Amino acid sequence: MGRIATRVLAKRAIAVAITVAMVLVAASCASGPAGPEPVGALWARRSAAVMASDHVAFMATVDPEAPAPFRQAQERLFAGLSSVPFAVYAVSHDGVRWRLDGFPADTPVVFDSLRYETIVRDGSRYVSGQAPGAATQLWDYGPLAVVESDASTVIVATDGAVVTGRPSELSSIVAGAQASLVAAGLGPHLPERALVMATPVEAHLAAILQVDGDLSRFNAFTVTGPVPLIVVNDAVVAGLPVADQTITLAHELVHVVGFGVAGDAPPVWLLEGLAEWYAHDRPPPGPSPSPGPTSLPSDDEFLSASVDVVQSAYGRASSAIAFLAERRGSDAPLRLLEVIGEGASEAEAFDAVWGGPRADFEASWVEAAS
Ligand SMILES: [Zn+2]
Repeated sequence: MGRIATRVLAKRAIAVAITVAMVLVAASCASGPAGPEPVGALWARRSAAVMASDHVAFMATVDPEAPAPFRQAQERLFAGLSSVPFAVYAVSHDGVRWRLDGFPADTPVVFDSLRYETIVRDGSRYVSGQAPGAATQLWDYGPLAVVESDASTVIVATDGAVVTGRPSELSSIVAGAQASLVAAGLGPHLPERALVMATPVEAHLAAILQVDGDLSRFNAFTVTGPVPLIVVNDAVVAGLPVADQTITLAHELVHVVGFGVAGDAPPVWLLEGLAEWYAHDRPPPGPSPSPGPTSLPSDDEFLSASVDVVQSAYGRASSAIAFLAERRGSDAPLRLLEVIGEGASEAEAFDAVWGGPRADFEASWVEAAS
């Protein structure tokens, strides 16, 4: 997991790979002359069972004497895994590497840090536990509905709250968002295929994103990585009008573009301003509420616990991006991120794209917006 940006962003979090020493418990019973099964053979059996959707073979990798809750969790995991079309699913000592069907063969695999504990019984090795706090994915929580279209894979949790038809509806909304961004000229920067996961269960969102706190006001998140992942809080988003859902997905897709051109650490206000501006179909700088803005938003404002502060930050970021586009051309905002992606600082990028210091840009925007 990489950096996370979100439409209503209270917290940017970098998923921390939690490393816990794998516990290998040696059996006290005598083993045959061949010795216990090598741990690599266990991973190979488990990986093959997932790829073959072989329930018996998968559960045969789980310690038969493991506590019932762990075995039940493994059953849920298998149900989830077997509902997802994997091109690659490979367990190893440090985690899981995976790639979904439909993505170009040269797409890098995604790596989820994960440590299983293993145990040897009568010469056979089993998965006996999982280090707490390890990365989870939507498939840890049970069966999923998957919709593969030309340019996206949409995976939706099939919890009881999911209404019939939601997976195909969300797939259509993603396609609509992609079409709007292609029309806005971002086509060459969009990934060939988008990966979107949605769940209405906020506890699962928190575990997947490895963030704490109240997620009820988050619409969606973009996680950077070899394959950028858009995670949708469907407890919120599924209830919005389709037009607003399309804006939400377009916003996240622009984050995918933003991270792609600027690397993993562009200034937050540029990332959010660009996403809002494109998602709302590149509006001209509108009249500002009185009193007008006095400064560009700081990164901290996007993290504020105050809804008013956060909304102001998004509004000013979008307004400033619109102003830049009006004065320097509609490609100027994206160009700013591209220059940063080439290694320039934010100040150097303003010199290159605005043609002067960032403070000069800020003053011009404040004057125009007041
Ligand atoms: Zn955002």
